[in-house]
Amino acid sequence: MTTRNYPIWKHHIDAAKQELRQILVENQDGTFSISEKKFNDAYNKVSDYIEVIEKPKLELLEKKEYPPEKVTTTITRSVRDTALSNKVKEERNYQCQICGTTLSIKGKGYAETHHVKPLGHDGLDINANMLVLCPNHHVLFDYGEIAISPKDCKTVVDKEGIRIFTLIPPIPKKEYIEYHYNKIYKK
Ligand SMILES: [Zn+2]
Repeated sequence: MTTRNYPIWKHHIDAAKQELRQILVENQDGTFSISEKKFNDAYNKVSDYIEVIEKPKLELLEKKEYPPEKVTTTITRSVRDTALSNKVKEERNYQCQICGTTLSIKGKGYAETHHVKPLGHDGLDINANMLVLCPNHHVLFDYGEIAISPKDCKTVVDKEGIRIFTLIPPIPKKEYIEYHYNKIYKK
């Protein structure tokens, strides 16, 4: 935190006001005029004052010592069964059920589980509602950029409805595929 020196700060404002009174010319109709040169002088003065006032804060910002403003938010999140998620990933060999990729991080498989009917939409945390996906297909599926066609429950389509992949089994339950297709992809 920086503590501003208020007496100095006030002094600068008073000085600016004083100066302004001297350079303004009062017209007969009660309005004021200022010459361009005087306006520029005043503008530069004000810039100097701002620098005096803001400099301590700017220096702290440059040194990255000025703490960012913090906002407290409350997040409601469904609790998922990590053990089940890990078991499903292992059973499906960490292979993306859309593109077939298996990622390896430090010698261990890496994949993400996706709930076809999202937990946030009252989807169930069960095997039949899960897909094992690579991070790319996870995000595309999450945002409804791709979907599984409910017609055959295996054709993976892009936003234009064009087949891009064939889903690698196991196939999730049809009602969850329909839910994702109608409420997330088509929306
Ligand atoms: Zn993938």
